[in-house]
Amino acid sequence: MKLSRRDVAAYAREAAVSVLITNVGELVTNQPELQAGAGREGPGPFAALAGAALVIDEGRVAWTGPAARAPAADQVIDAGGRAVLPGFVDSHAHLVFAGERGAEFAARMAGQPYRAGGIRSTVAATRQAGDGQLRANLRRLAAEMLAQGTTTFECKSGYGLTVRDEARSVALAAEVTPEVTYLGAHVVPPEFDGNPGGYVDLVSGAMLDACAPRAKWVDVFCERGAFGRDEAAAVLAAGMAAGLRPRVHANQLGTGPGVRLAVQVGAASADHCTYLDNADVDALASSATVATLLPGVEFSTRHPYPDARRLLDAGATVALATDCNPGSCFTSSMAFCIALAVREMRMTTQEAVWAATAGGARALRRADVGHLGVGARADLVMLDAPSHSYLAYRPGVPLVAAVWQGGERVAGE
Ligand SMILES: [Zn+2]
Repeated sequence: MKLSRRDVAAYAREAAVSVLITNVGELVTNQPELQAGAGREGPGPFAALAGAALVIDEGRVAWTGPAARAPAADQVIDAGGRAVLPGFVDSHAHLVFAGERGAEFAARMAGQPYRAGGIRSTVAATRQAGDGQLRANLRRLAAEMLAQGTTTFECKSGYGLTVRDEARSVALAAEVTPEVTYLGAHVVPPEFDGNPGGYVDLVSGAMLDACAPRAKWVDVFCERGAFGRDEAAAVLAAGMAAGLRPRVHANQLGTGPGVRLAVQVGAASADHCTYLDNADVDALASSATVATLLPGVEFSTRHPYPDARRLLDAGATVALATDCNPGSCFTSSMAFCIALAVREMRMTTQEAVWAATAGGARALRRADVGHLGVGARADLVMLDAPSHSYLAYRPGVPLVAAVWQGGERVAGE
């Protein structure tokens, strides 16, 4: 969606007044305790109110409760019985790149397997692209996410793989989100063929120094064909010493050490978790490391879906994210991921919506998003539907009627 200058001014005026959204058919709060200040603790378990209302003031949720008891506000919006949810939190995306790999996808659907090395073709295109081209691509994808209800997203570097190209990738990502991840350790670039140790030294040294000032997170692709356990541990340790917080691409293409490494270093999230053994599940269930599942990848690579039920039943915290990237999964739709999680991974509609909102917030260690408790950032999605379940019940249908971010209406009527 493209806003005119006049629209932006109108939205800014709107944000300066309190707004009551009433006649909400279902208000998903992820915050069972509704007393003042409850939201400051961050998201709780799935919770929803029927026949509800919500007040936005100064960019925050100021009140939620039964519509009949709603306080007055400067502006009133009648939701007409539609559902309102917290904005989606996409905790895993790779949006800084050039080029596309549609032909590779088509070939894969015709029977060729996905390999981590396909990343290299995007690296070549990204290195050749100018800053303006990368910025335009990034902003288009960020706008695409927002129009679909994603109000918080993480964005990784990882298609530059030189000091210069990683530094500019991180700088571009920082223009669109505070959740910036340094992923110099995505794959070993061709100029380091036969010398992965030399590349790990670069990622842990000069490249890290150039990227750390604008990044919040450090990530590594711990996988056969990418980085082994000791290499990944070295990259994470260097990043943490530079003040970054760890997250890990783990166990996407096969079993391996990624999940246990993530738990050992206290990572906020272990992402993918497609191939887990019992020790991995136990490690996730007994730690604060979120298991972030990316079912769009399995859809797009024809790998088996992660066993969400096994993780949930063991007590692990599960998040859903898109992994939006040009190779293994080029969707920006959290609604699509929710539908896949419900249909293919046997998550309930409540579990899937929680994982795509509160779960993502946990995976980014954010207390202010992923829920609509009092004090939360007023990031909201209104659906053209009476219930959250329609996100899976009506897959592929554009159900987002309106989006608010920080109390400002940024999409919709
Ligand atoms: Zn990824």
